[in-house]
Amino acid sequence: MQSKIGGRLTPAFLFSSEIFNFWKKELEKLQFKHGILTVGITGGIGSGKTTVCKIFEELGATVLYADDIAKKLMEEDEKLKKEIEKLFGPNAYIEGKLNRKFISDVIFSDKEKRKALESVVHPVVVKEIIKKFKEISKGKSEDFVIVEAALIFESGFDKELDYVVVVDADEELKVKRIMERDNCTREEVIKRMKAQMSQSKKRSLADIVIQNDGDIETLRERVKFLYSLFQKISKSSGMG
Ligand code: ADP
Repeated sequence: MQSKIGGRLTPAFLFSSEIFNFWKKELEKLQFKHGILTVGITGGIGSGKTTVCKIFEELGATVLYADDIAKKLMEEDEKLKKEIEKLFGPNAYIEGKLNRKFISDVIFSDKEKRKALESVVHPVVVKEIIKKFKEISKGKSEDFVIVEAALIFESGFDKELDYVVVVDADEELKVKRIMERDNCTREEVIKRMKAQMSQSKKRSLADIVIQNDGDIETLRERVKFLYSLFQKISKSSGMG
């Protein structure tokens, strides 16, 4: 949208019932960037961003998963495939299928290669997501679209989105959840966490922060609130 309303929202402010009246006039002026309200969900590993997106889906929202789109394009977009082969050599694909094990081994130990891969993949993924936004907005049946992406700020994709929600949780809780989810050691989790943008930086760039320190029911209540907030923003914008 042209003028983002209010700046960053804290959960405490979000749960104020006066929010809609307070912003009503501002909301009427809103223009969404891609013809429909677009919301990015991001957060560090283990914060709960996938869980948040699943709840949005359960509530009826359309969620695009950037990772899935990237995986598909890396196998189907011929121009991108050529660029990946140029970066990683002939072992990058086996009979047309991406050699994931080989690629992830290389980028795990070579930061430059990881950055080079990201710089060829991100623009193609962003273009595809924007194409999907346009298709969804033409359909007129959705109030808003959610995109889950781990690297929203790192890739500059936040500039294409109307709002970015950062999911966060207590550090120790994240470590425990990931150890359990991925069946790995504390050291492995900490190494992966350290390779990411810090959560404090992400929080400072967020429009909305969801703190995921409670149980799943508490998280569901927060997502429900955001779901109705986004519906209201969409309907009030005059673009729906
Ligand atoms: P991310 O996508 O940010 O890496 P996930 O959504 O996969 O994180 O969550 C990490 C793990 O923690 C998953 O196994 C998920 O089921 C679990 N989890 C997420 N939120 C909660 C919560 N509020 N209570 C209990 N477990 C949770």
